Amino acid sequence: MRIGLFFGSFNPIHIGHLIIANFMATQTDLERVWFVVSPQNPLKPKKTLARDHDRLHLVRLGIGDNTLLRASDVEFQLPIPSYTIDTLAFLKEKHPEHEFVLIMGADNLGSLQLWKNYEQILAGYDIYVYKRPSYELGEFASHPRVRVFEAPPLDISATYIRDCIKAGKSVRYLVPETVWEYLESGSLYH
Ligand code: ATP
Repeated sequence: MRIGLFFGSFNPIHIGHLIIANFMATQTDLERVWFVVSPQNPLKPKKTLARDHDRLHLVRLGIGDNTLLRASDVEFQLPIPSYTIDTLAFLKEKHPEHEFVLIMGADNLGSLQLWKNYEQILAGYDIYVYKRPSYELGEFASHPRVRVFEAPPLDISATYIRDCIKAGKSVRYLVPETVWEYLESGSLYH
């Protein structure tokens, strides 16, 4: 199968992420989209990053019964910090039956030259990029392995959601109902 990989910390997952994933799974030639949840980097401050399994759980809750989407914890088993090129190589070896495509926003494409072995990523993988308001596509947009899509933009971030929760404001509808219920019932991000 042709599978799109959407990497992130998903701290927490929100409808901006899900809109992109569903767009890629239904309006491109990708057959499935996997959310690859990045582990907590022990070298980085842990203050605002929820535990790996909480974030993974929230991604699963957000996906619900959508069989086109999947949560992947593959990076939890890989050395930290996890570099995309290493995760791609691992997945390729583990799933020779699949073809993996990278999904990223224009914000990430613009700084691709900072990624470890980015030339190798570009040489070995298709990259599906979605436009984001106020981000230039940059030089890589015309690369033969890059395809640019117009997905409905939504200007929210996990930071905004965490800030709302901390301030006691409602995040209902910014995250899927199941995620909202989970967040309401616990102390995550308070
Ligand atoms: P934070 O605010 O904590 O940095 P985030 O909402 O940007 O989090 P990430 O987990 O970093 O979430 O996101 C994973 C991927 O989704 C990243 O490539 C990021 O650019 C992208 N993304 C984040 N928010 C949106 C959005 N509203 N629309 C489309 N893509 C998004």
